[in-house]
Amino acid sequence: MELPFAEPYKIKMVEKIYKSTRDQREKWITDASYNLFNLKSEEVFIDLLTDSGTGAMSDKQWSEIMVGDESYAGASSYYKLKRAITEITGFGYFLPTHQGRAAENVLFSVLLREGDIVPGNAHFDTTKGHIEFRKAVAVDCTIKEASDPALINPFKGNVDTEMLEDVIRENPKSNIPCIVVTVTNNTSGGQPVSMANIKEVSRIAKKYGIKLILDSARFAENVYFIKTREDGYASKEIREIALEMFSYADAMTMSSKKDAIVNMGGFIGIREEDLFIKASGFNIIYEGYITYGGMSGRDMNALAQGLYEGTEFDYLESRINQVARLGSKMKEYGIPVLEPYGGHAIFIDAKKFLPQIPKEEFPAQTLAIEIYIDGGIRCAEIGALMADRDPVTRENRYPALELVRLAVPRRVYSDNQMDFVAAVVGNVFIRRKSISKGLKIKWEAPILRHFTVKLDRSDV
Ligand SMILES: *Cc1c(COP(=O)(O)O)cnc(C)c1O
Repeated sequence: MELPFAEPYKIKMVEKIYKSTRDQREKWITDASYNLFNLKSEEVFIDLLTDSGTGAMSDKQWSEIMVGDESYAGASSYYKLKRAITEITGFGYFLPTHQGRAAENVLFSVLLREGDIVPGNAHFDTTKGHIEFRKAVAVDCTIKEASDPALINPFKGNVDTEMLEDVIRENPKSNIPCIVVTVTNNTSGGQPVSMANIKEVSRIAKKYGIKLILDSARFAENVYFIKTREDGYASKEIREIALEMFSYADAMTMSSKKDAIVNMGGFIGIREEDLFIKASGFNIIYEGYITYGGMSGRDMNALAQGLYEGTEFDYLESRINQVARLGSKMKEYGIPVLEPYGGHAIFIDAKKFLPQIPKEEFPAQTLAIEIYIDGGIRCAEIGALMADRDPVTRENRYPALELVRLAVPRRVYSDNQMDFVAAVVGNVFIRRKSISKGLKIKWEAPILRHFTVKLDRSDV
């Protein structure tokens, strides 16, 4: 008999979670102004809001916490983390930061000026936030195929390199300090970028003297997809492929809360001393001294260990299989899901699920609210709410895709819990025609509005 797949770990500690009633959830979500970020975690049964900082650390990571060195400067924990980062990414210089957006803040403080242009593949929301906050412009050069939810392409996160080169040619080169490639591409559905594409983007960047930055929160998942989908990589080790991938970049920003399986932390990996020295100044102002910058020693230790565990093939296989299993169950129930399945999440095509809800009434957020009310499952909207307003015209931006993202925390939930999720969404799908009203905005912040927005049912 062929052996089924099994997780390469066992459970040492459990945490109780609470089921609630539909009536309770209806009250809670009204009190939360239909914003899932406003819910208390106890009001959620299965939390798929994000895979960021929600993973389960291993016994080895917890033991690293106990031997952290809290010296202000030159702590052994700093050197342990530096060794892990250099071994896994190849970058000789690094700066610790408290999380990924802090890494962006520090690096962009060096690189960006008002009026600059930053091309890339569907920039992550905080990345875009940091670019637009500096009155610079993020230009999305993701391949067209990415906006067709049903189209199968093994590397739907790729950059359209012709479009990229057009953007570079049509603008003064001095206004394009860097290209940001996000691996995997979260905004387009957790889709990977191929090595060939990264190589080509790097060639273009070098040709025009522009820096290439890899936004690397899910770099290990991207590497797993390269290994399993791209010609020539099947027999290579995950870490070998990761080293090649980073070799094409000048710097990387990292949210360690994703593929490094820690609850908080980030860093910047840098190739050249000059950029490192400039970034160090901003790191000291915004984060902390260069050998801890926003992280305690124990947390740097756990992060170093997490980088090794997060780049093990067996772990990555079990993680990506669990996400794909959730996707297949939902597909079995007829739910329109984005394919191929993302590395960290399953994305539901809300326009197909709820065609009766106009885009002005936020179909993805409407669906996310229904899924919460039915099963206590919290997911995230990746649609017009998150796309926010155009910074110049202040008009709402309506992205090609209205998605509900079910992000799966690492090493946290069982397959039974994933089956429960699929069934809850399946039940909402059965009663989808009865959902006749969407949502409207009552209050919103000027930037990154989706975190704090207040909504109401569209008919009240
Ligand atoms: C999470 C994430 C960030 C921001 O990191 P935080 O740790 O949440 O600040 C940036 N880019 C990508 C691709 C991410 O997934």
